[in-house]
Amino acid sequence: MRFSPVLERMPLRPLRCSWHTARMPRPTCPRCQRPLSRCLCALIPDLDSQTRVLILQHPSETAHALNTARLAALGLRNAELQIGEVFDQLSQWLALPGYRACLLFPGDEAIALQPCQADELPLLLVVPDGTWRKARKLLHLNPLLAALPRVSLSAAPTSRYRLRKAPEAGALSTIEAVVSALETVEAPASFQALLRPFDALIDGQIAAMGEHTYRRNHGG
Ligand SMILES: [Zn+2]
Repeated sequence: MRFSPVLERMPLRPLRCSWHTARMPRPTCPRCQRPLSRCLCALIPDLDSQTRVLILQHPSETAHALNTARLAALGLRNAELQIGEVFDQLSQWLALPGYRACLLFPGDEAIALQPCQADELPLLLVVPDGTWRKARKLLHLNPLLAALPRVSLSAAPTSRYRLRKAPEAGALSTIEAVVSALETVEAPASFQALLRPFDALIDGQIAAMGEHTYRRNHGG
């Protein structure tokens, strides 16, 4: 973990106060939607992928300070972020010519992602973004989603997501799941650059809340 001397001297600020209940509206970057002083755009890459990534975000996630789905969509040319509960245009999105649609979602029926073969169409990887409960709700409200073939990550790395308590061991943030999926399907291509703004976001939040508070709340 990296702490700059300047940030170490900052007063302790609980996470909730600094990110959720600020009374004065602060100017935000229109692209990454971070406060302007913490804009992450310079760290967001511009990566190409054969796989198309369609992230369906539950509205409860959009205002969260750790909106990693947005960072993933901004850093990938062939990615799209849609926000909602019921997606009326889903059938059009899923029928995009030249792709095989599948849903990244764990479960008994999910098949572990494999490297895409040269004679196969590239994947249209649909990624629900939200808590497990909200993601399941998206599947329930959008039967087309639930009907898609399901894929899961075979060898997911340990999460670097140290701030939001994961509901179960092995759970990853949306951006980490996307990186892991793309690196499996398009091996040996690397998509690690996509994690740069994510790492900066996490480091910034830990610095803002203070190391002591972080260790107390997250056992780090
Ligand atoms: Zn920005």
